[in-house]
Amino acid sequence: MKLVFATHNTHKIDEVRKLLPPHIQVLSLFDIGCDEEIPETGVTLEENAKIKSDYVIKTYGYNCFADDSGLEIDVLNGEPGVYSARYAGDQKDNEANINKVWNKLEGETNSKAQFRTVISAHINGREWKTEGVVRGEIVFEKRGLKGFGYDPIFIPEGYVSTFAELGEDIKNKISHRAIATEKFLKILSSLKI
Ligand code: IMP
Repeated sequence: MKLVFATHNTHKIDEVRKLLPPHIQVLSLFDIGCDEEIPETGVTLEENAKIKSDYVIKTYGYNCFADDSGLEIDVLNGEPGVYSARYAGDQKDNEANINKVWNKLEGETNSKAQFRTVISAHINGREWKTEGVVRGEIVFEKRGLKGFGYDPIFIPEGYVSTFAELGEDIKNKISHRAIATEKFLKILSSLKI
């Protein structure tokens, strides 16, 4: 079966290919001839994931799924959330995004936060949604060199190291994305696809 992952990110595609059984052929947006960025105009992670999966099913008719993730900080009412990539502006500057988080948290004693992923899917005429959350806290210095985005300032609950210190092997077992993906894989296997 062909299954489109509505992303141009080859790293994400490779990760999912490794998790899925070989009879499921995972295709990227490039693979189906969709070169344009699907505009992420939603104001929630749910909306953006759905916009992308809806676009693929309506335009190309393939079984498909899409994800959207973000960092949600408790005392900032879930900011940066859906705007995580461009929190400090459209240039999507990581350094500036982290500085903005620190500035907003100045004077706060509670730095609890979570990463959240939402997956939206269309499989054989039915719509599905899964979610993955990893709780943790923000630290006020960058620690570690692995990972991306906010990884150097996020310590997952139950650990003393940041995601950027823990590295891929551990992160891929406990992350928001791993949890949402795991739930999605369970749906696929329950559908006997
Ligand atoms: P995406 O939806 O996976 O592209 O994530 C959107 C943005 O959220 C990224 O550009 C990062 O700023 C942030 N983000 C999402 N997941 C992670 C993560 O696992 N580590 C660090 N930052 C993340």
